Amino acid sequence: NKYVYSFHEGKKEMKSLLGGKGANLAEMTNIGLPVPSGFTITTAACIRYYDENKILWNELLDEIHDQLMGLEKRIGKSFSDENNPLLVSVRSGSVFSMPGMMDTILNLGLNDISVKGLANSTGNERFAYDSYRRFIQMFSDVAMGIPKVRFESLLEEMKENKGIIEDTDLNAEDLKVLVEKYKEVYLNELNEEFPQDPIKQLELSIKAVFDSWNNPRAKVYRRLHNISDNLGTAVNVQSMVFGNMGDTSGTGVAFTRNPATGENHLFGEYLINAQGEDVVAGIRTPDEISHLKDIMPEVYDEFVKITHTLENHYKDMQDIEFTIENGKLYILQTRNGKRTAQAGIRVAVDLVHEGLINKEEAIMRVEPNQLNQLLHPTFAESTLKEAIIIAKGLAASPGATSGKIYFHADDVVEAKARGERAILVRQETSPEDIEGMVAAEGILTARGGMTSHAAVVARGMGKCCVAGCSDIRVSEETKIMRTKDQTFNEGDFISLDGSTGIVYKGDIEKVQPTLGGSFGEFMEWVDEVRVMGVRANADNPKDAAQALEFGAEGIGLCRTEHMFFEETRVMSVRKMILATTLEERKSALDELLPVQRQDFYELYEAMEGKPVTVRLLDPPLHEFLPVKDEDIKELAEAMNVSFDDLKDRVEGLAEFNPMLGHRGCRLAVTYPEIYRMQVRAIIEAAIDIKEKGHEDIYPEIMIPLIGHINELKYVKDEVLKEINLVFEERNNTVKYMIGTMLEVPRAAITADEIATEAEFFSFGTNDLTQMGFGFSRDDAGKFLNEYVEKGIFEKDPFQEIDRAGVGKLMEIAIEYGRKTNPNLKLGICGEHGGEPNSVEFCHQIGLHYVSCSPFRIPIAKLAAAQAEV
Ligand code: ADP
Ligand code: MG
Ligand code: MG
Repeated sequence: NKYVYSFHEGKKEMKSLLGGKGANLAEMTNIGLPVPSGFTITTAACIRYYDENKILWNELLDEIHDQLMGLEKRIGKSFSDENNPLLVSVRSGSVFSMPGMMDTILNLGLNDISVKGLANSTGNERFAYDSYRRFIQMFSDVAMGIPKVRFESLLEEMKENKGIIEDTDLNAEDLKVLVEKYKEVYLNELNEEFPQDPIKQLELSIKAVFDSWNNPRAKVYRRLHNISDNLGTAVNVQSMVFGNMGDTSGTGVAFTRNPATGENHLFGEYLINAQGEDVVAGIRTPDEISHLKDIMPEVYDEFVKITHTLENHYKDMQDIEFTIENGKLYILQTRNGKRTAQAGIRVAVDLVHEGLINKEEAIMRVEPNQLNQLLHPTFAESTLKEAIIIAKGLAASPGATSGKIYFHADDVVEAKARGERAILVRQETSPEDIEGMVAAEGILTARGGMTSHAAVVARGMGKCCVAGCSDIRVSEETKIMRTKDQTFNEGDFISLDGSTGIVYKGDIEKVQPTLGGSFGEFMEWVDEVRVMGVRANADNPKDAAQALEFGAEGIGLCRTEHMFFEETRVMSVRKMILATTLEERKSALDELLPVQRQDFYELYEAMEGKPVTVRLLDPPLHEFLPVKDEDIKELAEAMNVSFDDLKDRVEGLAEFNPMLGHRGCRLAVTYPEIYRMQVRAIIEAAIDIKEKGHEDIYPEIMIPLIGHINELKYVKDEVLKEINLVFEERNNTVKYMIGTMLEVPRAAITADEIATEAEFFSFGTNDLTQMGFGFSRDDAGKFLNEYVEKGIFEKDPFQEIDRAGVGKLMEIAIEYGRKTNPNLKLGICGEHGGEPNSVEFCHQIGLHYVSCSPFRIPIAKLAAAQAEV
């Protein structure tokens, strides 16, 4: 069983074994790119390490030593050499990239002897001792858990004593002194000498990388991105190259295209005379990659050539780490670059045009939920004119957002819990801030570039971010942010524009985006590939228009009760509910009929002939009733009854368990005249539309909460009587359908009976989940989180459909329903209809359409297309 592979032995297809970084280092080695030599310890080894109680077993150590000897031979250096020592990096690398979440150790192999060798071989003593002190600090921190500040404070102290500002102004003698002090810290902290044996350093570091798989921030990151905890990380051991050898050395990161917009130009940053994380950590502000052309033209040209090679090879935008050692270029990492939704679509569309991928591949490149970002609001142009600009930073992750500023991740989390919109303001962020970043509306940092931690993580989360904003001074300690002439305290409102990098004072109004360009083209391809229909849940003409703009193919759920809540109408609704006689009720319904008819008319008009499913009244009646005495009084006057009498009636309608109470079709059993009024409005409006010469409308009348065939028979009979009455009166007809919400478990398992009377089923998966599990939708929030945290459920079943249970009920309903009604039309109108994983399931079980909120239509469409590919 092989646990260690040299870069020559791997390839990109071995990602799950070698991790993403290792597989790509191998691939690049084998296509002839300048990659420092090394080897990869597999993820399988990491998994076994945990099984072995976190011990590196002997056979593994043997394999590592064999590979090490191979490496020494290949590059002609060896550990602890007095003249030309081998130094390596020990790098984590999991299957899915988790930027900055796990640990890496650089310059390993340095000790009191090899540091002299490094000085000798490079003729640069300062550099050698600088590397040694970096290594001691990194190793102590990452592998041995000694807090970084122990070392950093010594460094600061020395700089202060010498009156210098930049680390680079320390000379070799200073650094030698520091190295001694660092080793003392190590001794004091751990009661043992700093390990001089490189093999021991290596083993401890490998263990540290394995251990970092389970550090808290890596766990949070995995939870956030749905990455399994069982994959483990690989460890890459790679010979060091040095970007910190002077002015002809440097290090950088570049994207082959712009990760914020997708534009096809090289995008990145570099620092001269720097190592490793310096660029990402935002310690010094780096230079734009294009400037490299001026100072090292040949290196720049070679790099550009390599970026093209890598893009063509991987057929996707790449995120590349490189280092220049004394004018020689090395590539240290490549991966598919993280990008915003906007960039994701632009790149996918461009790659199709460039002939690198086909449309189906393009469709698979974009994560449906990411589209959310594109549908996000921007600041209103009109209000921007008066807005006060307080600073400008880098446009690190697009979007527009406002909120109160907080300086610590914890404070943001608390503010969010209080219901505030919070913006995290930091000098720079680090992986420990991850939970605050999740909770924040937006992120603002004073330091760091486009590839800094804040920028990368924010883009991944689709969160608005302005980074490297040097116009502001941030004091996290005193919780103050200063601009040139103003001071902002915790809790003050600011607004961020992540597309321009501009920071505004106050809380600025936002507007909805318009869609077109690459997005339009992409969605055309999605529509070509997709077979399942996508409709919208919309209750009024405005939502319907929005839905159409996002490409809805009809309305899958119009909740008529939403039409009743409007202030002017609720009085009539209340009268209807509280009526004691049929006469009274009918007169209230007569008031409602014209308004309801007008609603439907406008809705049909907006939908331009597309199907509209109207659900008859569903919620328990008391939801409409007044609660406050003064409102009851007002209503009593309007109804000409006494206050006490009315109050009794209101109280009489209260239920112990309203969601399982007098609602849905059960209302129509008691008060058939309510549904008859609604049906009349639906049909009359349809005939009106037809007579006005508009596109024919084809209403689908949906009866909610059916659990028994006889309920459906009874209600349908009433509905049909009213329809025929209208047809007669108007001497005209329209096409229509009558179907049912499929949301009561009993209906699912008697679907063969139900389907004899229903032309369509629309799965109401919110109720089906509620009744299937017996979880009250309104109360489950209190305890379902715990189910997820304790691993009892993988996901909240109200968010992602429970395929095994609720999904099974759907499958049974479809199978039985089709037995007696092969033409049965099938859809879903629960919240799940806009959730990608559930949409995929709906596709698999053969639904004709999903229906979701207007803003999720593009997401549902993409998920449906992906299910097809
Ligand atoms: P991460 O996954 O957090 O990016 P990496 O393993 O890529 O961690 O390493 C962190 C930094 O160290 C990167 O900037 C990388 O380029 C640099 N680095 C890693 N290995 C070497 C090496 N052998 N020589 C020089 N720099 C290295
Ligand atoms: Mg890296
Ligand atoms: Mg329901």
